[in-house]
Amino acid sequence: IVSEPFPVMEELYSVVRLLEPEANRRGIRLEVDVTERKWLVKGHRARIKQVFLNLLKNALEAIHSRGQLVLVQARETGKDIIFTIEDDGPGLSEEIKKNLFIPFYTTKAEGTGLGLSMTQRIIADHGGRISADNSARLGGARFEVRLPLI
Ligand code: ADP
Ligand code: MG
Repeated sequence: IVSEPFPVMEELYSVVRLLEPEANRRGIRLEVDVTERKWLVKGHRARIKQVFLNLLKNALEAIHSRGQLVLVQARETGKDIIFTIEDDGPGLSEEIKKNLFIPFYTTKAEGTGLGLSMTQRIIADHGGRISADNSARLGGARFEVRLPLI
């Protein structure tokens, strides 16, 4: 795989398009609140796509128990782009917050527990960082991904 500059929003939108039918079927709103489309990130686009897929799938899976909205926002700050992925599902307990990036940690009957450890690894490989907390606004989980812009 080659590392090259690519428009990162294209990967986000392709994941959103992929998950939209499932969200619609389940009555979940998948909202992307971003106007800029041309942000360039250097790296492996398929791996960054995997990051968005992991985070959005987790949000949709969390909403199984409660909620109806997944909100994705992005903004530029200095040399970075900051994505936030929030949902109005059950959120993260202290126990889950402590463990969610650890490989094989899952609270799901059929989970692998590998999505977030892989996600963290990919973002680190791209010079970025990820953090998890609860969303004050939506009441569910909130993931923040910071990636260096070109
Ligand atoms: P998996 O999805 O296979 O369980 P992940 O590494 O993707 O593995 O996630 C680990 C755990 O983190 C999940 O089992 C769940 O407990 C928690 N988690 C991740 N995203 C969310 C979210 N949006 N809301 C609530 N819990 C979450
Ligand atoms: Mg997962």
